[in-house]
Amino acid sequence: MASQIGHFINGKNVPGGSGRFGDVFNPATGEKTARVALASAAEVDAAVQVAKNAQLAWGAMPPLRRARVMFKVKDLIEKRLDDIARLLTLEHGKTFDDAKGEVGRGLEVVEFACGIAHHMRGDYTEQIATDMDAWSMRQPLGVVAGITPFNFPIMIPCWMGAMAVACGNAFILKPSEKDPSAPMLLTELFAEAGVPAGIFQAINGDKEAVDALLTHPDVPAISFVGSTAIGRYVYHTGTQHDKRVQALCGAKNHMVVMPDADLDQTTDALIGAGYGAAGERCMAISVAVAVGDVGDKLIEKLVPRVQALKVGPGLDPQSEMGPLVTRQHLDKVKGYVDLGVKEGAKLVVDGRELKLQGYENGNFMGGCLFDNVTPDMTIYKDEIFGPVLSIVRAKGFDDAIKLVNDHAYGNGTAIFTRDGDSARAFANNVKIGMVGVNVPIPVPVAYHSFGGWKASVFGDHGIYGMEGVRFYTKLKTVSARWPTGIRSGAEFHFKARH
Ligand code: NAD
Repeated sequence: MASQIGHFINGKNVPGGSGRFGDVFNPATGEKTARVALASAAEVDAAVQVAKNAQLAWGAMPPLRRARVMFKVKDLIEKRLDDIARLLTLEHGKTFDDAKGEVGRGLEVVEFACGIAHHMRGDYTEQIATDMDAWSMRQPLGVVAGITPFNFPIMIPCWMGAMAVACGNAFILKPSEKDPSAPMLLTELFAEAGVPAGIFQAINGDKEAVDALLTHPDVPAISFVGSTAIGRYVYHTGTQHDKRVQALCGAKNHMVVMPDADLDQTTDALIGAGYGAAGERCMAISVAVAVGDVGDKLIEKLVPRVQALKVGPGLDPQSEMGPLVTRQHLDKVKGYVDLGVKEGAKLVVDGRELKLQGYENGNFMGGCLFDNVTPDMTIYKDEIFGPVLSIVRAKGFDDAIKLVNDHAYGNGTAIFTRDGDSARAFANNVKIGMVGVNVPIPVPVAYHSFGGWKASVFGDHGIYGMEGVRFYTKLKTVSARWPTGIRSGAEFHFKARH
């Protein structure tokens, strides 16, 4: 029987009160596993009021004490890693090992947040004028909210929540309604670790809950990760309501393969980065730009590997690629493959008809590989977000980098080469936020920061690392002069005897 998922408000799980629900499915079987409550604006407001009250004491607490709580959060996530990963696989579909990897990448940001006392320390300048000093400090914003996508239901709430809470804010998470169970467990773990009631809450919902957050006068900052269409809306609506908004959005990541690249290494990298998590990663490689004569050799190596991908349920240890998140998304991805054929691209591996015995209702498809894709095609312009890799041919390095720079999206990119000069020129001149040199998915570590360029982002500040600290705090600078006081009036010597 389908379970009910409500909200986590004021330190406890509460049922939804709006009467509206969404369905949650196991993408491997197609079975409906839960009903998730979709919050009303009034429920969002109730959570904001709780958060506002709770934040005063939490924000005033020494950062070192907040850091100690973060160490406990880290410990609990590590202890429950398998449970979290299992929930991820059951609702998102990704393989169990990949799910554990996701938890690991989220944990790295929690680890960074454990150092918050150091990260929030201020600047001090002695003697800015005669007998005057100045110092700057970072203070929390208050109540902040995070709206997250379906594809990293734990990692992205950790990127936002751990940083926001460690900085002294109260955080309200609005997880994706497609896979809410893992983020609900994360919320419980924050509470178990000692984060006070109201400091890390979760509100499930759809547009109504998002709009309530975007327009709420007591929520000064919004973090969003999701598609470009919704991110643009979130950014414009939030900023129109005077909020600080960071919106990290869609992508079309290119890997440039130079003629001197190690082709076995490149093929391994393309298989992992193109088809891992069924291509449902914002840093997935969806375009390989074959430079010079490398295209035919690359196709020759890729075709048998794509055909041999082991597609199956994520909990089966043999599976390399799981199902897509929903039936609707599967249909959309297959629709793009149909369109690519119509547009004249050459479909060299066709995974559309894949059927798995015993999993006939699952959202499975095999890997697809297109050759001769050109920049005017919709399958090149749009983010497909599925296991579909396109090969584009480029005459030389300059054509390749132009392709990457002319694309509307600017999240991630990579170059595979043995030539340091090409790699350096690429890294320095490419108009993309995150660049890999012989690294296919260059997601920065937690103490750098994550963020794309162009249509892959709206607003300022990367989402973790020191950029995250800046986003979740406001700067205050004090200039101080003390009039002569007790020091000059004090007597430091014995009085002479009279
Ligand atoms: P989505 O935009 O459909 O949903 C993201 C969030 O917005 C969800 O919480 C959802 O409930 C909410 N939402 C959906 N429709 C809304 C509406 N009309 N009004 C207000 N809120 C709404 O994205 P998704 O399908 O869950 O996630 C996949 C997308 O996220 C891809 O485009 C992917 O590239 C992107 N993504 C980007 C990054 C990044 O860091 N750049 C990381 C992960 C995913």
